Amino acid sequence: MDYAEYLRRLPKVELHCHVEGTLRPATVADLAKKHGIALPTEDVDELYTYETIYEFLDIFRFVNSTVIDRDDFARVAYESLEDGVKLGNLKYREMFFNPTLHTPRGVPMATVMNGLADGIHAAEQDFGVRCFLIADVYRQDSPEMALAMTEDVLANRVPELIGLGMDGAEAPDPPEKFLASYQLAGKAGLRRTSHASEDAPPANITACLDVLGCERIDHGYHILSDEKVVERCRDEGIHFTCCPTSTAVVYGWPDLTAHPIKGMIEAGLKVHLNSDDPTMFRTDIGKEYVDFIGQNGYPPELAKELVLNGVDATWLDDSDKAELRREFEAELTTLDAQLVL
Ligand SMILES: [Zn+2]
Repeated sequence: MDYAEYLRRLPKVELHCHVEGTLRPATVADLAKKHGIALPTEDVDELYTYETIYEFLDIFRFVNSTVIDRDDFARVAYESLEDGVKLGNLKYREMFFNPTLHTPRGVPMATVMNGLADGIHAAEQDFGVRCFLIADVYRQDSPEMALAMTEDVLANRVPELIGLGMDGAEAPDPPEKFLASYQLAGKAGLRRTSHASEDAPPANITACLDVLGCERIDHGYHILSDEKVVERCRDEGIHFTCCPTSTAVVYGWPDLTAHPIKGMIEAGLKVHLNSDDPTMFRTDIGKEYVDFIGQNGYPPELAKELVLNGVDATWLDDSDKAELRREFEAELTTLDAQLVL
């Protein structure tokens, strides 16, 4: 087995993947037809073309307007997990969804959450992959809208719901704005994470940890500009869910050998790789490892370290986490025996 194939086949955890960014182009076309929605282009692949996060967010919204009923949400979750399994040997995911992409256009929260849960169950049955859900605050919503969303999510809670997160364009909206949502989520026993310092100073990481009660940081690249925050996160073992391809496109780090993720690894931070919005950036969880590890010339030891960081960063309880780690280590031993460098 060559190195690229080895990297693709490594068992993987993914903690930074937005279900709404995983729609297959063919599925968007099917759903648009089903609901009588006109596509802006004949070639649905052309939809996924953009140069800034703002353009990306507009298209993200359009594509998701085709996902309407419970079956649609189930199909999207199922296909998303199927792609993870088949393209990257995905074993476990904690997956973001954005309630306010859906509820303001008249989709009931129960439809969104029950549909996603249906898809997760079906995928576990067919592929053995496990998945939980993280409801995301959208930063461009008002704090009142975010709080109402959090209340609605809790009122329609499914067993798969594990946490609260936050995404959207970071620069204009500081984390503190959404304190009430995070406090409510914490009281209700949800775990907490947030996109932070992807497009804003490391002070946002500190605010997420200290004010919002986050346990992980999604992205976090600008941490490298503040040695004190780096030191603190290293000492506390904070995990960073990093996404090479999406940020290469949106934030202009096309050369993966100069991507800040590399500096974060060198600084001793706990990092693992994720696909973010895979179909929309023409990537998948397997390709993220193949490209980032391969282009940087990292050895198998480093690839395995990142994979196991992903296991440690999950919100599974200690015994489930230990079991997942044992499964991964057994599979890694088998793969190591087949690798020809
Ligand atoms: Zn993201």
